[in-house]
Amino acid sequence: MENEKKVVTLTYGCQMSERDAETIAEIASQAGYSRSEDLATADLVIINTCCVRESAENRILGKIGELKKLKEKNPNLKIAISGCMVQQPGALERLQKRAPHVDIWAGTHNLHNFPSLLSRAEQGKKVAEVWQEPKLTLESTPLAEQGKLQANVNIMYGCDNFCSYCIVPHVRGRERSRKPEEIIQEIENLVASGCREVTLLGQNVNSYGKEFSPAYDFADLLRAADQIPHLLRIRFITSHPKDLSDKLIETVAKGEKLCEHFHLPIQSGSNLILQRMNRKYTREYYLSRVQKIRELIPNASLTTDIIVGFPGETEEDFEQTLTIMKLIHYSQAFTFMFSKRSGTLAATMEDQIALDVKKRRLQRLMSVQNQESQDWRQRMVGKTYEVLVEGPSKTNPTRLTGRTRGNELVVFKGNSNLAGSLADVTIIEAGTWTLVGELEES
Ligand code: SAH
Ligand code: SF4
Repeated sequence: MENEKKVVTLTYGCQMSERDAETIAEIASQAGYSRSEDLATADLVIINTCCVRESAENRILGKIGELKKLKEKNPNLKIAISGCMVQQPGALERLQKRAPHVDIWAGTHNLHNFPSLLSRAEQGKKVAEVWQEPKLTLESTPLAEQGKLQANVNIMYGCDNFCSYCIVPHVRGRERSRKPEEIIQEIENLVASGCREVTLLGQNVNSYGKEFSPAYDFADLLRAADQIPHLLRIRFITSHPKDLSDKLIETVAKGEKLCEHFHLPIQSGSNLILQRMNRKYTREYYLSRVQKIRELIPNASLTTDIIVGFPGETEEDFEQTLTIMKLIHYSQAFTFMFSKRSGTLAATMEDQIALDVKKRRLQRLMSVQNQESQDWRQRMVGKTYEVLVEGPSKTNPTRLTGRTRGNELVVFKGNSNLAGSLADVTIIEAGTWTLVGELEES
């Protein structure tokens, strides 16, 4: 339709943030907006934000600035900014002053109120709403676009860990788990609409259900989800090392659809830094968990998050991060320079590390990990893997792409009607970032 209203959704940050953006986009589509990627013709632009590092905030502020010019050309354009950045204590006022052209400001806890915010904005009002507390009853009725091959499903919200560098507990509230039957129902609905792979989301999935009585934990939830007919794969993020139980590792080892991939952020290899980070495990404990995974699931792939330049990190501490990486052999690592987040304990710590030192350490860390990732992919050459076929590759449409159970991306030649099914693919070449494979005849 020519005059149908269009919404463009931009999202920054983690999968939780992506999942929230999905909910808001769905709300907008129920309010009569069709989804689009073209900013120039948009009637509504929604930016779901992240504030985990300053660099993310700066990128978002830049984008909000760009939208001002767009609004000058199209005064009917409505701009909505939601999520973590808005939820930070004291942020709203500062943001409103900086970007008066924005129509809707919303925090992380009131997404479900977006329909009313939107209709007020459509009447020409500027609206801002940030709730201090979440309401689980609202969070438990999420909206999702149906008919997609892969979907993210929240199993819990918030975080109780208060790692000393992290803003997440301050903007996402205390940890709360959704009821297993609601989660299973949501997955069954997704599967009925064509979904074949779900990723279960939580800041620390390993502590899922800790408030439940009678006891019901994350491994129990995985076992239940593993029984859902027509679902092909189940992934989960993020596993906090301190709560990674033997029961969970055994469950993944035995499960049929449970992918053998653990995203197990280590953050640092130095016990002193881990303690200052309030991570509640040691280097030795982390290694013992990895050993247990490798013992029960020899082909499991491990990925991680690492922060360099945490306050007080010496060269020796940093070397310990490098040595543990070489011991563990991660298939992939997300590496960050420590960023001061106001309101967190680490922001007030002495011995902040100079930017040039952080940059140097990040470079060294990345070059070690690039080699590790390359070696990991090289070891896959000649072996055959189960791949969930996603469809034609975006960069090379004559090829198909898909992921292994370990979450490695593979490109290979094949018929696009394979999309949505499992295929056996033998790896023939390990590129810098991807793997090239060959389809096995079935
Ligand atoms: N809940 C997940 C991840 C949350 S944030 C977990 O516990 O692992 C994602 C990653 O961002 C973190 O793992 C950490 O490596 C990084 N991060 C968080 N706060 C940061 C900060 N202040 N500076 C730099 N990196 C940070
Ligand atoms: Fe942040 Fe730590 Fe919670 Fe992860 S576990 S969200 S790093 S406080």
